[in-house]
Amino acid sequence: MKMTQIPLLDLQQEIAELRPQLLRAMEDVLDGGAFIMGAQVKQLEAELAAYLGTKHAITLNSGTDALVIGLLAAGIGPGDEVITTPFTFFATAEAISRVGAVPVFADVDPLTYNLDLEAVEAALTPQTKAVIPVHLFGRPLDMDRLMTLAGQHDLIVIEDTAQAFGAEVNGKKAGTIGHIGCYSFFPSKNLGAYGDGGLLTTDDPKLAEAAAMLRTHGSKRKYYNEIMGFNSRLDELQAAILRVKLPRIDEQNEARRRVAARYNERLGDIPGLMLPGEVTSSSKQVFHQYTVRVLNGRRDELQAGLAEAGISTMVYYPVPVHRQPVYADGLHILPLAEHLAQEVLSLPIWPHMDEEVQNLVVQQIRNVLCT
Ligand SMILES: *Cc1c(COP(=O)(O)O)cnc(C)c1O
Repeated sequence: MKMTQIPLLDLQQEIAELRPQLLRAMEDVLDGGAFIMGAQVKQLEAELAAYLGTKHAITLNSGTDALVIGLLAAGIGPGDEVITTPFTFFATAEAISRVGAVPVFADVDPLTYNLDLEAVEAALTPQTKAVIPVHLFGRPLDMDRLMTLAGQHDLIVIEDTAQAFGAEVNGKKAGTIGHIGCYSFFPSKNLGAYGDGGLLTTDDPKLAEAAAMLRTHGSKRKYYNEIMGFNSRLDELQAAILRVKLPRIDEQNEARRRVAARYNERLGDIPGLMLPGEVTSSSKQVFHQYTVRVLNGRRDELQAGLAEAGISTMVYYPVPVHRQPVYADGLHILPLAEHLAQEVLSLPIWPHMDEEVQNLVVQQIRNVLCT
């Protein structure tokens, strides 16, 4: 029997569609002769600022650097506590530790997988300086409530928007509601480059100036270095590639929503499966992942059953961050995040995923769970 192979994410489809434009854009860079901080980066930053509705868009080397640079720009460092979620990619907490601050993990909401704002409130101390919410799997957090809480306690809010480029909260783009937004252009993200890349957004000119200086060795003017910085620039090739892809992002995210809606429709009646819920009508999720909860201890069985049929799935995340060796000090007890780590399973999703391919995934889920 010939086995179908269904990946978690198919990047080749987009490359095939855009190949002529991508090659032309890359040739323009080669012919232009500027490879770092040239016209492509400048134009991309203007286009990103316009798309997102933010005053400043500063491209960087990665989403991780955006978090580190955002924290430093905001003056967060040793002695400060930063509240974040344990149910995220490691980089969120790593950035906090990297600048010498202490990550304080608050538990998550088991329906949205995002930070539980009551848990955030309970985790506040006089040392709390900032909160880093993560719009996990492309689902935006309730930013209005978080900003009210932040206002009451004078907290900086840095949105980890790595998985939610293009998502909206009450008509505003995710990442532009807090003081700083951090995005990643890692190839598998919704707006992905073909290498590493990141972005920091803010409306605050002081934060923007600090971030821009940190990006290039702490200098405003070449060879005049005022503070300790980094080399964290996006290169011209990646900027040119992103400029080809940015105009299509809304259509791509809309296509992801359609795939997600089909999953919701076709998986809804399967017992023991919890589907990702809807967001409020004024918000839009972008389904970086389509992540279900498999109840009754059957997650690993379902994952194995799908693998047998050639269907790739992933557990994001098998170990919550507070349980990673570098943080496992026993201080945090976060039952909901730990519970989710046992139950979540991310199914194949990408824009324009073929309906027949998706039906194979649905059928195999039925084969495993309904027998
Ligand atoms: C991908 C990701 C990052 C890091 O982005 P990089 O560009 O890979 O450094 C940070 N936070 C979250 C939630 C992510 O998914």
